[in-house]
Amino acid sequence: MIYKNSLYNINDINYILEKINILDYIKKKLYIKKIGNNFFALCPFHNEKHPSFIISEKLNKYYCFGCKTYGNIINFIIYYEKTNFYNAIKIIEQFYNVNINKKIYINDNNIILYKYNYIISKIYNNNLINNINNIIINNFLNLKK
Ligand SMILES: [Zn+2]
Repeated sequence: MIYKNSLYNINDINYILEKINILDYIKKKLYIKKIGNNFFALCPFHNEKHPSFIISEKLNKYYCFGCKTYGNIINFIIYYEKTNFYNAIKIIEQFYNVNINKKIYINDNNIILYKYNYIISKIYNNNLINNINNIIINNFLNLKK
């Protein structure tokens, strides 16, 4: 039996992530207040009375000083919409009216493709986590000064 499936190229995803503004999506979901160069909101991922959820247009990322959650638009959609990586990509495509290229593979074993997709998304998330101390937190701390 032949199955068709599609995979996203990580370079295509990164290219799109650089072009879109994370704030456009988040401001449709949360009440945003601009302070300095950054935007603050009540964190949607933990209960709080004072905003500690910061969105940086410059970095195109978010970070919560309360619960330490962080990420880009993909992470936000996955956790906020309670969905998975591939649905998050679809939401991004629809919301931002962009098209992230899919490479079509034809294989007689769909399970291999699912495992491959899973590994790719794990690599993507691990890269983000590994880089977080060097990039995101340092940049947010610098922006707060
Ligand atoms: Zn939080």
